[in-house]
Amino acid sequence: MNYHSTRNRRLTASPSQAVLQGIAPDGGLYIGDVAHLGLDWREIITCDAQTMSAKILHAMLPDFPDMAGLIRRSYAGKFASEELTPLVQVGDRYVLELFRGPTSAFKDVALSVLPHLVTEAQKVQRQDGDVVILTATSGDTGKAALEGFHDVPGTRIVVFYPYGGVSAVQQLQMTTQEGSNVKVCAVRGNFDDAQTGVKQVFAACAGKDLGGAHLSSANSINIGRLAPQVMYYFKAYGDLVKAGRIAVGDKVHFVVPTGNFGDILAGYFAKKMGLPVGMLVCASNQNDVLTEFLTTGRYDRRRPFYKTSSPSMDILVSSNLERLLYLMTEDDAAVARWMRQLNEEGAYEVSAQVLQKLKAEFACGCCDDGRCGDTIGSVWQQHRYLCDPHTAVAWAVADAFAAACHDGAPVVVLSTASPYKFPAAVLHALGREAGEDEFAMMAELHRLTGVPVPAGLAGLREKEVRHGDVIDKEDMLDYVLRFVRG
Ligand SMILES: *Cc1c(COP(=O)(O)O)cnc(C)c1O
Repeated sequence: MNYHSTRNRRLTASPSQAVLQGIAPDGGLYIGDVAHLGLDWREIITCDAQTMSAKILHAMLPDFPDMAGLIRRSYAGKFASEELTPLVQVGDRYVLELFRGPTSAFKDVALSVLPHLVTEAQKVQRQDGDVVILTATSGDTGKAALEGFHDVPGTRIVVFYPYGGVSAVQQLQMTTQEGSNVKVCAVRGNFDDAQTGVKQVFAACAGKDLGGAHLSSANSINIGRLAPQVMYYFKAYGDLVKAGRIAVGDKVHFVVPTGNFGDILAGYFAKKMGLPVGMLVCASNQNDVLTEFLTTGRYDRRRPFYKTSSPSMDILVSSNLERLLYLMTEDDAAVARWMRQLNEEGAYEVSAQVLQKLKAEFACGCCDDGRCGDTIGSVWQQHRYLCDPHTAVAWAVADAFAAACHDGAPVVVLSTASPYKFPAAVLHALGREAGEDEFAMMAELHRLTGVPVPAGLAGLREKEVRHGDVIDKEDMLDYVLRFVRG
């Protein structure tokens, strides 16, 4: 399989080149023909999680040698269980727990693999010099990327996060990061400012002498970040078959808490590979730009930006939607036009025909902080299952979806983070005073529910803060250049 830019089909790259570059030179995202990989999905769903991952990645990234070995090295000792992503029944619904990795967010599934893909791609391409990973984070990608890349020879990493825009736990996870090749910096602005800033640094550095270094991305704009996520849809499906809940070939609906549209797009890739995915339900918080788009066909980022209790979804420019638009239309010129309009005017609108195609595969819904908190409370009361605010947004949207869709197919809610990453919101939802100290809140939450605190979070308090930089978004380029050259 070869890749090309979503904005220009003639701008091609091999899989390893696409992983190294992160983003296409014209600002488009790399995409390939995932529908014709020749994968036998019926066989894949019988495999264990790591074998599934290796088979899918081998098909998606065929110029990497020994994908099975790469996957083994990626996950060795990192996840709570060999299963990687357990499926848990909660009432008549299922929760796909994606947060059992080292940083307690779903990003670990892919970011455990990406550093190995990057260093392998350097070998395949015979590229000398360091790869410098630039990452904008709404809270979870940053830590998962730091955890993956710290002290990996031949790589360095810079993480930008919105100042005051992440939870205290998330911030400490990043600012205490050890490693000789890492840099963590707050940007005055929101996530979209940080993400736009990173894209501008890429554009400004294209063709510049970076002292032999090369820039790449750990965000889901990088196909090497997206591809490892396809596995867990197969895993959930296989588990439902094993449990006797469905027969092979029956469809399953997935409800996905969505920000940059990476997770849900991986589900669409799985569907294109043949997996019987029913509806993919896109769940948003109060930043409901995707709900509006999937309802009206009009994408308009000119709207208030809300800081919510599910900060990893506080996003108005949802990058991977661009890949979906390409897959739906196969019209690179149209995608280029829409993205130019989004950039210059802040909005674009797809045709009624494209909207109809989208609606056939994607449902949507949104949920504000009030309903999110109520949902955490009621799921705990009814099922004794503790979910984080992102998962609760999806659960609430799943309620509305299930009320409208009575086809009897199982509904799987993707759970993207541990509740202990957001102790204030979760405690408040359980009717307790949250207080100031997030570690005291974790302890209180544990006392109340008995749910174990993940080891990586429990040990944070003792760690030394190593990264205190705060800059304006205009200064991101200088900051990166100093790091790269310095
Ligand atoms: C990143 C993240 C999301 C959003 O995922 P996308 O792939 O960007 O749509 C949702 N929940 C949590 C906890 C996250 O960290």
